[in-house]
Order: sequence, then structure tokens, then C-alpha cells
Amino acid sequence: MAGYLIKIRMQKRIERRLTYFLGITFAAVILLFYMVPDIHRVSLASDGDGVATYSVMDLLRSGDELYSVDTTQTAKEVEHQLRLTLPMDVDPGKVSFTEDAMSKSFELTIPGVDSSYFYDYPMVGSSDGIRELTFAHAGDMGILDITTTKIKKLSLTVEDNYVYLDFADPHDVYDAIVVVDIGHGGNDVGANQGDIYEKNINLAIGYRLLAYGAKSEYNIGFYFTRVDDDYIDLEDRVALANDLKADLFLSIHNNSTASGRMSGINGAEVMYRVSDETGRSREFAETCLNELLEALDCNSKGVVAGDNIYIIRSSEVPVALAEIGFLTNQKELDNLNDPGYQDKAAHALYKAIVKTLKNNGADLKKSIRLEEK
Ligand SMILES: [Zn+2]
Repeated sequence: MAGYLIKIRMQKRIERRLTYFLGITFAAVILLFYMVPDIHRVSLASDGDGVATYSVMDLLRSGDELYSVDTTQTAKEVEHQLRLTLPMDVDPGKVSFTEDAMSKSFELTIPGVDSSYFYDYPMVGSSDGIRELTFAHAGDMGILDITTTKIKKLSLTVEDNYVYLDFADPHDVYDAIVVVDIGHGGNDVGANQGDIYEKNINLAIGYRLLAYGAKSEYNIGFYFTRVDDDYIDLEDRVALANDLKADLFLSIHNNSTASGRMSGINGAEVMYRVSDETGRSREFAETCLNELLEALDCNSKGVVAGDNIYIIRSSEVPVALAEIGFLTNQKELDNLNDPGYQDKAAHALYKAIVKTLKNNGADLKKSIRLEEK
């Protein structure tokens, strides 16, 4: 009798386990369906607002053939990479774009078109160097998202009811390229004193450097790893400089004592890559430090070997990481929070960039910058 009961209990236990097992398997399968995007999602995604986004890569590929067989096309049309046709009542001059070098993408805004735009007005051209093209429609705006395989500069040429798109190597557009990394961001606040975060001071100085870059008399392409309070992986920061084969890579930071306690320690220091055999990293760091000392009249902590820092040792281009001041020194903390001081620091870094580029033999012409909208 007892043996029979045990048998039943064991059977019940096995059944219960089987139920658990099947339940978990079922849940896993459901989860898998959610997590693995199916083929439909790749070509036809829908964002939160119910805006349909579809890939127009295939439409372009069929356009490739169109482009080569259409003998009526003028040389002018063929010399451009992509051609968009707009409905008669749409002003081609209102087509604008934004670029994001970090994601190698452009967002082209086309006013006054509807969701069937690319079917009604096929795009022609070459898909060379283009990874993905998607089209979304929101309100009376069409948004064409273009992702390229390499970082490119996009230019638009408007003629009649056509908009021509061309993608250039940034080095063909600019006389020199500088990547500015604004340290920390998002959840990574960096050093802090109460509610004063290093990430925000870095950004404030970076913004001012961006302004000096924008009004530069030289045709230098400035790229920033962030211009918002975003968390950015270290790998992505250094990849921007390496992918662009930047002439210089500058990272903006601020310092603190190891303990984070207030102290008398203060001053600017700039790190460089010892393993850079060209010596350009050290030279750039020294120039940054000298300009900072002159502009800020602060204490010098010197140039320091920084190969233990990931973005420094992974940089394939001349790199300097400027620690402008100490948040753990009351006087310097007050200075770093002062917009005038931030501006002086940014201008010093701008001057150091121009000086180093010239020393390195960059042919900086005072030319007109490409018009961007
Ligand atoms: Zn930092």
C-alpha cells in the first residue's frame, strides 16, 4: 500500500515537473518570437507612433538597372550618385538633412510627399557604399534614412524637380579632421562634487569648442562623440577617430583626487600615448597643456603617459586627453563652473588644435565650408 502511494506521489511529481518544463519551453518560444526579428520586421518595421518604415534598398537596386539602361539621361544626371524626383508642387529647396557620423547615417526630410512616394517617383542611382535606405512617413513629411558603410559627407544639389545626393570622403571635403570626445555622459557622470558632475562641465567646454570650430577661418572638419547628455561606449568614441582617420583626437575631461575628497591639489594635465612612435601624441598634448596654462593661468600638472586609458592606447591617430582642472579643489571647481573660464579653456584647445595641425604640415586653406542645412 505504502509502495503504491509513493508511486503515485512520484508520478505526480514527474507530471508537475513536466508541466513546469512545458510551461518554461512555451514561455521561451514566445520570448524567442519577441526577441528575434522576423523577416517582415527587417523590411517593414513600425515604430511606436504606428509610422510604417520600409526599406527602399530593393527599389534602388531595381533603379540601378534603370540608371544604366536609360540612354536619355544626361551626363549631369549620371555624375551624381542618387536622384530623387519630387512631385511638381513640392519645393526641392525645402529638402533638408541631418547627419550622424557615430551611426554613419543621414536623415533626409522631404516635405509634402505621402507614403507611396518612392513607388510613385522612383529613385535612381547607385547603391554603392550604401548599407540601408528606409523610408518613413509622418504627417506631411517623408523621412529617408540613409546608412552608409563608411563615414561620409552628404551634399544635395537641387535642379528643377530633382534632388541629387552625393556622398564624399570627409578628407576630400575638409583640409583636416579633428575628433573631439566629450568625456562621460548619461549614467556615467564622471567625477562629481555633490550635484556638480564632470560630464556636464566637459559638455559645457565641448559646446564652446564646437562653436569655435563652427566659426573657424579654416576648413577643418570637427566631429564630436556626443553633443548631448548621452552615454557613449568607449569603443564607439575611439572608433569615430579611427574610422575617420582623424588628424587629431582630443578628449575633454576634468580631474578629481582618487578619494574624491576636497584638497589643495589643482591644475591642468594632459595625457598622451607613449606608444605613439611618431611622437605626435605627445606633441599635441604639450601644445594643449601650454595653451591651457597660458589661457587659464592655472597650475601645471604636466603631460602624463596615458596608455593605461582605453581610448588613448586604442587610438590609431595622435591623441591627447585634457584634464582641465580638479573638481576636488574649491577654487578650481568655482572656475570650472564659470562660463567665462569654460570659454577660455575651449579657445585654448581650439588654438592648440590649429597649431598642431599646422606643425604637422596640414594644408589649412581659408576656404568656404560646405553649406549644410
Ligand atoms: Zn573624466
